[in-house]
Amino acid sequence: MEHEYLFDVKLFAAIRVKASSEKEARAMMVEAIECNTGNIGEWPNGDPIMCEVSLDDNPENNPLIEIDGEDPKDVCPDCECLIELCRCNDEKRLGRI
Ligand SMILES: [Zn+2]
Repeated sequence: MEHEYLFDVKLFAAIRVKASSEKEARAMMVEAIECNTGNIGEWPNGDPIMCEVSLDDNPENNPLIEIDGEDPKDVCPDCECLIELCRCNDEKRLGRI
């Protein structure tokens, strides 16, 4: 006899979000994904693998790994432009002189 098993699993995903700040992007991600249904591939018989998804909304568990394709360490935390191209850092430095 065949049975149906339900597992509560933790999946790891990388999700790209377009927003005007990291804070806004995180909020959009939590709101859009919470209790939604995802399709994560197919079973050998071709049926879709569907799952109910929810997000751990603790930012520490969802590290930011890229901003516009760049390492966040290379991006200005104020304007979110590349530090080497950032003008607000220059303005701050100039302001301090
Ligand atoms: Zn900046």
